[in-house]
Amino acid sequence: IKILICQGTGGISAGAKQVEAEFTRLIAEKGIVAQVGKRCDVVKTGCRGLCANDVLVDVITPELGRVTYDFVVPEDVAAILDQHIVANEVIEKKKAKAYYNTFVDQQMRVVMTGCGQIDPERIDAFLEEDGFKAIEKCVKEMKPSEVIDEVKKSGLRGRGGGGFPTGMKWSFCAASPGNHKYLICNADEGDPGAFMDRSILEGDPYCVIEGMMIAAYAIGCDAGYVYVRAEYPLAIDRLQKALDTCYEKGYLGKNIKGWGFDFDMRIKKGAGAFVCGEETALMASIEGERGMPRPRPPFPAVKGLWGFPTNINNVETFANVRHIINKGSEWYASLGTDTTKGTKIFAVTGKVKHTGLVEVPAGMSVRDVIYQVCGGIANNRKFKAVQAGGPSGGCIPAEVLDTPVDYDSLIKAGAMMGSGGLVVMDETTCMVDVARFFLSFTKMESCGKCVPCRIGLKAMLDILERITEGRGEMEDIDTLLEMGATIKKASLCGLGQTAPNPILSTVKYFRHEYEAHILDKR
Ligand code: SF4
Repeated sequence: IKILICQGTGGISAGAKQVEAEFTRLIAEKGIVAQVGKRCDVVKTGCRGLCANDVLVDVITPELGRVTYDFVVPEDVAAILDQHIVANEVIEKKKAKAYYNTFVDQQMRVVMTGCGQIDPERIDAFLEEDGFKAIEKCVKEMKPSEVIDEVKKSGLRGRGGGGFPTGMKWSFCAASPGNHKYLICNADEGDPGAFMDRSILEGDPYCVIEGMMIAAYAIGCDAGYVYVRAEYPLAIDRLQKALDTCYEKGYLGKNIKGWGFDFDMRIKKGAGAFVCGEETALMASIEGERGMPRPRPPFPAVKGLWGFPTNINNVETFANVRHIINKGSEWYASLGTDTTKGTKIFAVTGKVKHTGLVEVPAGMSVRDVIYQVCGGIANNRKFKAVQAGGPSGGCIPAEVLDTPVDYDSLIKAGAMMGSGGLVVMDETTCMVDVARFFLSFTKMESCGKCVPCRIGLKAMLDILERITEGRGEMEDIDTLLEMGATIKKASLCGLGQTAPNPILSTVKYFRHEYEAHILDKR
């Protein structure tokens, strides 16, 4: 018998540790093992996505299979033990109905297979799920170039937001001369509302380590960093424990497992600057400099960290890799659409019934993600728009709700995949306020290095504030469009190049709301 208790950051803040302690106490006190004649393990797991319904507890018994309970508090534990485990009767009223009816059944878990299933602090749990089999296969059966070809054939594209083909990126760094190359995992997840990278690191840190090992072998990197924001203490703690265990068991360091392959890894904590998600700013931060982007070329693949060739991918990208190697590029390429293969994890927040993490095959429509998986709009209100891609993305209104979630379709609709944040808004939301919120975020996070972003975003925000405070003029709307287009073209890095997107897309689809603010004052 297994009792799995969700202990991601969401679960712990909802009281998962107290629930775990109560299970442990009552199993001993009630003599549950003797009563049922079976072992009864209480297992701590990472997040399984339905964060709004924490604490989630899965009970797995031979008689009843797997049953998930939600909103579990310590007072529920005695009933779960007596009724479910001893009397073999499901407690229907505590069953996680959303979990079964929509949330999980409609998803496809590839990257998140380990999250919510295994104890992230036990390497044995990862090994039981074929952990490190993919890197072993690479080192023993494949040349580095064959690994890169396999990733190219899979069609995997970078999940950090840019969507650049991963295999191609690896080949650039592999082709750079030199015996010392760096590999960096970008875990500087800064989009408001996005938490998929944190949950993967909290729930299955070994899958990211294995993905990095495979990339290191393919590219020829001997040293790796995971750049993770310091606001993620649980992710850092679990990743550090996983790294320590890997060194202890010979999965990192010199001559890993006698395979003749060396790779070292360490964590670098970031101080939480959004711009440090940009590759060159991130490297400057690791080097101990102020996190500011620099012009490219030279590209990191040629001259990166401390001047050495460097490859950077994000957490979700690395977490995909072991599945591609284990199941093959053909299998992976069979998921998704022509231009976006595999699955994508979305952090769905805002006015939906079930908020949380959702992993679906690329190509599912935005409508299905919101209505089929997340149960639709909360409080039976009307859908108005969804902000896709965080502060760099754009708003998708009801008329294009059938847009498939793939890189190219979202851009066509005026939004972007970004790292996968979806903020859902209902009929009560003011879209001008939404644009102002995202612009004030990017303006605050601008590093100030280049004029279009430093001055331009401030000027746009001034205009937006004027409009929302009833001091706007009709021509302000066109000024916003003109400035937005210029800032996009002239800014040095991705932050400035995408910061105007929320304004441009809200003006495109909700111009009447801007006009209403302006006319209201008259
Ligand atoms: Fe800094 Fe903005 Fe210029 Fe990027 S675009 S370098 S964040 S000022």
